[in-house]
Order: sequence, then structure tokens, then C-alpha cells
Amino acid sequence: MNRIAKTLHFDAGLLTLTSVSIEQTIAFGRWLANHLVADDIVSLDGDLGAGKTALTRGLAEGLGCQGPVSSPTFTLLIEHPAQLGGLALFHFDAYRLSDSGSFCEIGLDEYFTQKGVSVIEWGEVIADILPTQTLYILLSQQDLNQPDSRQIEITWPGCPDRLAALIQRLKEDDSC
Ligand code: ADP
Ligand code: MG
Repeated sequence: MNRIAKTLHFDAGLLTLTSVSIEQTIAFGRWLANHLVADDIVSLDGDLGAGKTALTRGLAEGLGCQGPVSSPTFTLLIEHPAQLGGLALFHFDAYRLSDSGSFCEIGLDEYFTQKGVSVIEWGEVIADILPTQTLYILLSQQDLNQPDSRQIEITWPGCPDRLAALIQRLKEDDSC
């Protein structure tokens, strides 16, 4: 089992974790998926190579939905249909958009209410239209001398109770 590193810090609504390998980041995504429900939205930010797609791969595994996760940079959206009884994953990449206008013009925001989990790489580009239940994750490489280390910062401003529950589960759960 690849364990996500211990909670480093929780203060003022910000939960900070450290991942020391891509496998840990994927494992965290897999774990997080178990705490998501239909129409949840996860906004992923961080530089190229920060691990947004890797985390999405874990989310897809945890949701048990169909199809391999790759970077949707050139397609805006890759849809992963649900397996029986599970949730679909709508995997967006807003990198090439200038703002939320074009996202809405082509109706992509309608996926937010299609009873799946929406994950948006470069979510900050469309921050102004993200619903209140959005979970925000910022990935970053803090130390160039540790190329496989990533800081994972999590906020859930619209759902403080759910963030508190997540932290409680992180503390209790031996598998992460
Ligand atoms: P993004 O989608 O943010 O551009 P990717 O997930 O596509 O990033 O790529 C992340 C890259 O960083 C991969 O090459 C992966 O092997 C590498 N990597 C190294 N350490 C980690 C880590 N702890 N978590 C995630 N990716 C990592
Ligand atoms: Mg990516």
C-alpha cells in the first residue's frame, strides 16, 4: 500500500500534505474518491508536472470509472463513464482557455450537475464559475533537490464540515 504522507499541517481551513512519490499522489486520489459524492467538483492547480493528472488518475481508480486517464490538454474534457453503481468522472483541462466565458459558451459547465465528479486541471482559469461545493487542491514542488516530493494543499471553503470530516478520516485511516 502506498501511503499518503501524514498531515503536516491544518490551520485556518487549509490542510497540507506531502507526497514523496507519484504512487503516493495516486493513492491519495484513490482515497479521496471514497469521500466524494455526485456533483462534487475538484479544482486542481499547480505548474506543469505538479501532479494534477496523476492525482486525477487516482480519483478515477477510486471511483472505479471507465477508461485510462491521460492529460486532456488538447480536448478540454475526457469523460469516464461510471461503472455499475459508481460515479462518472468528467476530467477537464482549462489550460488553453483564457477565461470561463468560453467554457460556459460550449456548455461544459452543464457537466457540473450530471451526477458525476468533475475534476478540473487549471481550475483557477474558471474560478469565477466554480460552484460553492468545489474542493480546491494546489500541488507544488517545494524543493528542487527533491524531485519526487510534492506539497498538496487542500481547501474546501464552501464545505467546512466536509473538510473537517476528511481530516478526521485521514487521522483515523491506516491505509493512508
Ligand atoms: P500535471 O498534470 O500537473 O502537469 P502530471 O501528473 O502529468 O502533472 O505529471 C507529474 C509528473 O511528475 C510525472 O512525470 C510524475 O512521474 C512526476 N512526479 C514525481 N513525483 C511526483 C509526486 N510526488 N506526485 C505526482 N507526480 C510526481
Ligand atoms: Mg495534466
